[in-house]
Amino acid sequence: MELGGMTIDSVRAAIASGTTTATAIAEEHYGRIAAEDGPSGDGLTGKGINSFLALSRDRALAQAEKIDRMAAKGEELGPLAGVPVGIKDVLTMKGSPATASSLILKGYMPPYDATAVTRLEAAGAVLLGKLNCDEFAMGSSNENSAYGPVRNPRALDRVPGGSSGGSAAAVAAGFAVASLGSDTGGSIRQPAAFCGVVGVLPTYGRVSRFGLIAFASSLDRVGPFATNVRDAATMLGVLAGQDALDATSSDRPVGDYVGALEKPVKGLRIGVPAEYFGEGLDAEIRAAIERALDGLRAAGCEVKTIALPHTKYAIPTYYVIATAEASANLARFDGVRFGLRAAAGNEGAQTLSAMYRETRDQGFGAEVKRRILLGTYVLSAGYYDAYYRKAQQVRTLLTRDFLAAFAEVDAIVAPITPTPPWKLGEKTADPLQMYLEDIYSVAASLAGICAMSVPCGETASGLPIGVQIMGRHFNEETMLRVALAVETAQA
Ligand code: GLN
Repeated sequence: MELGGMTIDSVRAAIASGTTTATAIAEEHYGRIAAEDGPSGDGLTGKGINSFLALSRDRALAQAEKIDRMAAKGEELGPLAGVPVGIKDVLTMKGSPATASSLILKGYMPPYDATAVTRLEAAGAVLLGKLNCDEFAMGSSNENSAYGPVRNPRALDRVPGGSSGGSAAAVAAGFAVASLGSDTGGSIRQPAAFCGVVGVLPTYGRVSRFGLIAFASSLDRVGPFATNVRDAATMLGVLAGQDALDATSSDRPVGDYVGALEKPVKGLRIGVPAEYFGEGLDAEIRAAIERALDGLRAAGCEVKTIALPHTKYAIPTYYVIATAEASANLARFDGVRFGLRAAAGNEGAQTLSAMYRETRDQGFGAEVKRRILLGTYVLSAGYYDAYYRKAQQVRTLLTRDFLAAFAEVDAIVAPITPTPPWKLGEKTADPLQMYLEDIYSVAASLAGICAMSVPCGETASGLPIGVQIMGRHFNEETMLRVALAVETAQA
């Protein structure tokens, strides 16, 4: 694996002991980005990974110097002291452009930090820059970015997954030790699986979304990527907690996620939903998950088959609700307040409504337009009851499936992707095929439960495979313990 080899604990320990400095570590990561993230060919020697859209060097180095001064004085260092972290470009960072990988936000400089960003920095993280993703987080391959696709560091001709493709790729390539992503219907878990890293979808309400550019507000969540379960737990502990700036954030006490990893998994009941192992599941992924389940059995877990009977409705339900909410959320991009504005004049827009139309026509990509149209349709008079209201009802059934299952088991183990990462361009012509890739990820999103993806082997050709662990609302601790057991069984 081509990771930089550093973990959160190793970075912190090396800085605290004076073996190296936060500044040197930041420079080393910027050096790797400069050497590998850029284009290849025509005398260019990068790998064309294209994970970073903007670097925040001044901010990163100022923070690194601050950490180094603290370390030199022997002051206590935060849990992420000196750790190089990248931020998905749907979260705001003051002083860096925020584009959501869209042309419509080109040039937009947010005047504030997202709460997740503030928390990481307060814990000592060194924020390297903004990471590529699908436009407004809509996609499963990172090919819907206005700034070019991201390549999978583990197989450069393949997609890294999406929408947080840059966040997964940057960690997998060793450009950052951890990163932030957002997950509305799979966008942290699926790219984590494709790039061979860990990705956590915290319970809805667990992590503040203040400063997250909204896609579908009843589904959007912020969460971390890391190279291992322990680092993911450390990141989650820093990110989690109520925020006065986000009314949807929960006041439940934050768990001790790293501490929970000490508890053995012996005796935990693991549910395996039959509906997640149907036809379209790749044989090598199926085999890898069975091996992971064997590992859990060997660690003393009780593994049993469960039913999540409404699973087959998850994709249509998700694509009605997510597009409906997106059509409302994206109405604010009109050329008046943010980013791009279509030029007035003879060739341009003559009236206010023509300016709106032109701006949105030029600024949004094809997939975003498709979703705004779909969402507007399902919300329109005459169709609202048939589509939107019906989808809300099915969402309740999907949630009840999980609540019933969690009365019997402590965690659920299932695939996160039906196939390994595909080749760039392979699925871009058929949006429906792309939507079907989300078959195993969207139900947990609709139900609001926590879920994560952890590496569990690779295909014969060396492509990463991930397994999904789902947990009860606000029981990230048990989910992380199971994930650690899966990780340990492979080592
Ligand atoms: N692939 C899903 C979509 O395109 C999920 C995206 C996400 O989680 N942001 O809607």
